[in-house]
Amino acid sequence: MNKVLGKSKGVDLVQKWIQQSFEQGKTEAELIDTTFVFGDEIMHLIRNQVGVLEVEQKVGHVVIFRNREELGLNKNMCRACGIEHGSYKEAIECCMEMEE
Ligand SMILES: [Zn+2]
Repeated sequence: MNKVLGKSKGVDLVQKWIQQSFEQGKTEAELIDTTFVFGDEIMHLIRNQVGVLEVEQKVGHVVIFRNREELGLNKNMCRACGIEHGSYKEAIECCMEMEE
């Protein structure tokens, strides 16, 4: 695969996501307006002036707020390494030393 100079890892991930979405039968219209966050990169899928799907990039300060429901879904997952555990207690103890 050819690598375009200056292309970021984030854009790479977005392009993979686009490809996977198409393979799953999604249409362009369904993908437009999707926002991606990777580290401090903010990427937004737009249709450019000539009607072609384009990844708009911004670099900024990213703050992600998660609501209770979202956190509840992964309650037993270690937030540091992502391993799922049998209980919330095990999950918070998993990578405790790495926390601070
Ligand atoms: Zn862990």
